[in-house]
Amino acid sequence: MAGGPTEARGPHGGRVIMARGPVARVVRRCPPELARTLAHEKGEPVTADAALEQVADGVLVAIHPFCATTTTVVLGDAGGCLVVDPAVTAAEIDALAAELARRGLRVVAGFSTHPHWDHLLWRDALGDAPRYATAVAARTAGERLAENRRKAGEALAGVDGGPLGGVTALVGEVLAWAGPRVEVVEHGAHAPGHAALVLPDARVLIAGDMLSDIEVPLPDHRAADPLGDYDRALDRFAALADAVAVVVPGHGSAGDRDELDRRIAADRRYLEHVRAGRVVHDLRLVDGPDWLRREHEELVALVGGAG
Ligand SMILES: [Zn+2]
Repeated sequence: MAGGPTEARGPHGGRVIMARGPVARVVRRCPPELARTLAHEKGEPVTADAALEQVADGVLVAIHPFCATTTTVVLGDAGGCLVVDPAVTAAEIDALAAELARRGLRVVAGFSTHPHWDHLLWRDALGDAPRYATAVAARTAGERLAENRRKAGEALAGVDGGPLGGVTALVGEVLAWAGPRVEVVEHGAHAPGHAALVLPDARVLIAGDMLSDIEVPLPDHRAADPLGDYDRALDRFAALADAVAVVVPGHGSAGDRDELDRRIAADRRYLEHVRAGRVVHDLRLVDGPDWLRREHEELVALVGGAG
């Protein structure tokens, strides 16, 4: 980002200032991010080699500059791996593929947590393994292909919007792949057919666009009961918490069990205040980008309008 921050659109269509906002939040929370972010701001290459970090046994995470988007890699049998929500730019995904190859890893499955464009990306460099999503998410990705391509094109340069629709509907609640057990927890919060993944052996919860340290809850405005859906999803995460040692959000930094509890509590507090029509004091909003505050204002208007 040499020459100063670049304006772009956030993952949900609002505007975002690159190299500010969410990335800065991660910097403060997670000192190891600092060098990477500074390199990005100086326009220096940020390689997947530097970005992939192990957060639990057999689970690697990369955080990309655009909205601090995370890619998660789960190691499987015989050099195979599962790639969840690879993002964001074509160059980043190609660099990720090169880094996986350098480590002797072969992508044998992909997973999209939900049908928003920044969670449906893929590139030929990752190979032609099946890319799964819940049946509802896969159907929605197909229905919203044009919309997702438009949003991806508006969000930032260098995004390959071609493969946004090529996901396969998952059958059952366990991902069929040659690797550790991956349980699919489908719920109605944030987007149709959104799924979190639970890795019981590694005690990891891959949360998709929930449980973020840098984004307040973003309920699905098109749902019949946006806040109720979100409440129910948080209840499910709370019920799972004893089996979780590490939570990985779709945007932001990974957290431990205490951080999981803290994020669930913060998200419940946020929803409670929105529902009650009270002013929300949440550092994620105060320090966050403009698009996040706009999403918040739209939710307040939606809930107020419904009441
Ligand atoms: Zn999303």
